[in-house]
Amino acid sequence: MSRSDWSDARFETRAIHAGQDADPATGAVITPIYQTSTFIQEDVGVHKGFEYARTDNPTRSALQEAIASLESGSWGLSYASGLAATQNLLYLLRPGDHILLSNDCYGGTYRLVAKVIANYGIDFSLCDMSDPESVRAGLRPNTRMVWAETPTNPYLKIVDIEAVAAIAHGAGARFVVDNTFASPYLQRPLELGADFVLHSATKYLGGHSDVVNGLIVGNDRDVYDTLKYLQNAAGAVPGPHDCWLVLRGMKTLGIRMERHSANAAAVAEYLQHSSLVDTVYYPGLASHPGHDVARRQMRDFSGMVSFTVNGGYELAREFVASTEVFQLAESLGGVESLVEHPGQMTHASVAGTGAEVADNLIRLSVGIEHVDDLLSDLEAAFSRVGASRLAAR
Ligand SMILES: *Cc1c(COP(=O)(O)O)cnc(C)c1O
Repeated sequence: MSRSDWSDARFETRAIHAGQDADPATGAVITPIYQTSTFIQEDVGVHKGFEYARTDNPTRSALQEAIASLESGSWGLSYASGLAATQNLLYLLRPGDHILLSNDCYGGTYRLVAKVIANYGIDFSLCDMSDPESVRAGLRPNTRMVWAETPTNPYLKIVDIEAVAAIAHGAGARFVVDNTFASPYLQRPLELGADFVLHSATKYLGGHSDVVNGLIVGNDRDVYDTLKYLQNAAGAVPGPHDCWLVLRGMKTLGIRMERHSANAAAVAEYLQHSSLVDTVYYPGLASHPGHDVARRQMRDFSGMVSFTVNGGYELAREFVASTEVFQLAESLGGVESLVEHPGQMTHASVAGTGAEVADNLIRLSVGIEHVDDLLSDLEAAFSRVGASRLAAR
């Protein structure tokens, strides 16, 4: 027996079952990868709900239903990447509209708005969204969209979702929350008043650094019709195998996020006591300015930790090249730990914009390896760069 309505089940159960009933054609327990571009019609226009795979594909439908359930939305849409999803949402804006963006947002989001969308008559400006008053001050009469990330990237600032939703709505703007860094296991923006949740499923949802995918979730039916139309009309859809990988990743989201959060808390605590570290940015630390809001709106603090070293770019560069368990690479949210230099890597595209990051900043995506191996890897890297610094004196 299978049931299709999982709305009364808990998060971990829905992650495994929502949208993922046994395949009606064969009984396969796991949603099949429907690797087909087209579907047979019994007569003209008579079919089983699928015609052409850009428009709809059963593996994608399963993913869309699953993420809608996990984000407490009524619908979900999937795209070829997080930025393809971002672009689809930005198509809701018209020439003359203004979008207010976080000054600490994903570099690619900034690049898409500032270098591409702005060429089509859409205005944008940046503000510090961790301060609701700065959001209020940044609004203009033509602001139609407010776009936040929380925690932000790479400084892990916390945006009060409920407060900013109220401010955006008061001005007649839609409020989008990029929930990539938290995942729905830790934070559900729609429950706090956001209009749309956006994900780079490439990160925690996929969780294994083996797929690029994007998702949007919301509740408004009219906007769904527009976005669904745009998904097909603009065509940046994911292949069925990619959708399947995200579905598989999402089944273990809860247990992964718990381990990511526990390991990151230990790493942040360790970094605070290193003599080569200046400032540690982690919302789980009581000293973090957004700690109280994070505690209120998140179930735990996720796996991202940033810190500055007390030296310049050279020391930071040496450090990121010195770790072994933490591999030097862009991206985040996979089971393996990664280290990167935002100024030269993920955030190079914001150079010269006022949204730059410090050149002694290092970002960690803390994985789910054994925490002792992570801590000793950091320890070893610090002693390597510490020794070379002494030798240089
Ligand atoms: C990676 C990322 C994106 C972009 O997603 P892609 O899947 O790489 O296109 C957007 N927002 C955040 C916070 C990200 O980390």
